[in-house]
Amino acid sequence: MPLPDVIVHIMACIENCMRFDLITIFPEFFNGPLDHGIVRRTSEAGLIHVHVQNLREFTKGRHRTVDDRPFGGGEGMVLKPEPLFEAVESLLGRSVGDAAKQNEQDPGTAIVLMSAAGRLFDQETARRYSQLQRIILICGRYEGVDERVAEHLANEEVSIGDFVLSGGELPAMLVVDAVTRLLPGALGNEASSQNESFSELQAVTAKPDKSWNTTRSESGKEVRMLLDFPHYTRPAEYRGWKVPEILISGNHAEVAKWRKQKAVEKTRRNRPDLFS
Ligand code: SAH
Repeated sequence: MPLPDVIVHIMACIENCMRFDLITIFPEFFNGPLDHGIVRRTSEAGLIHVHVQNLREFTKGRHRTVDDRPFGGGEGMVLKPEPLFEAVESLLGRSVGDAAKQNEQDPGTAIVLMSAAGRLFDQETARRYSQLQRIILICGRYEGVDERVAEHLANEEVSIGDFVLSGGELPAMLVVDAVTRLLPGALGNEASSQNESFSELQAVTAKPDKSWNTTRSESGKEVRMLLDFPHYTRPAEYRGWKVPEILISGNHAEVAKWRKQKAVEKTRRNRPDLFS
């Protein structure tokens, strides 16, 4: 007798399922983003499990208050520490209190605070996260989060770019997406995540040369700091614009050369900083 889907899902999860916990005051925010494409399919296949945690469940009192005025005065409200510490402790099933210690105790789990003042999230960070078993993502709101969360609860404070958003939900979702698509089995075609912007070098070319701009990542691997090459599909001619001849030639070596050249050109044009 075939096992019910839910049992298959749980078994897969126990084996090698990565778990994301999103702590937020707007749990419904994630309904759309989690329900589409690779994230949805990966979740249905039991490779990831995403749990959305309503922060208000960890508030006391009738008003379920999550925020308060800033000490020292100034604009806006700040998310209080108590509900956030209690939410994470409840998710982990144990007490926390020292981010560094928590990291030593449980290196497979990251507690990440989404913050415009954090370290920039990039493909290297996504790759590092994809090796973990669990990521707890804390979404800030208002003027931000009581600093004790960054100091003693989160072991990482992460920004998705040099701009300020109104909440950490979109940034957290972006992390879930970028990490999920790197998990083995998430993409239909394994090669796709090895052969794109910021992918690891050895998958792309065995012999780097000077034009192939690489840098050594924190993990010591060579990372290809080039953007993806341009892609084309049918029709071969659209409104008079033709697909580059070489792509239709069937000459794989020439196609590879052309793609590399175009990737270099595009990187120089759009991201000269990657060459500096
Ligand atoms: N006062 C803060 C901004 C608060 S924005 C500052 O000047 O740095 C409210 C929340 O949105 C933050 O707590 C954070 O969780 C989220 N957020 C805003 N911009 C972000 C970014 N670039 N990356 C990650 N999270 C961000």
